[in-house]
Amino acid sequence: MIQCQECQTDTIVKNGIGPEKQRYQCKSCSGNFIIADSGITTLQPS
Ligand SMILES: [Zn+2]
Repeated sequence: MIQCQECQTDTIVKNGIGPEKQRYQCKSCSGNFIIADSGITTLQPS
């Protein structure tokens, strides 16, 4: 289960593909993050 690192909810949607990784967006806080081999990396809000 993917969870937002900011608010720990699982209301996550796919938000396109980054350079190498699947990008996701939290529907609760609108935070963007990617799933890397080493774990979840939060991206700065745009
Ligand atoms: Zn969130």
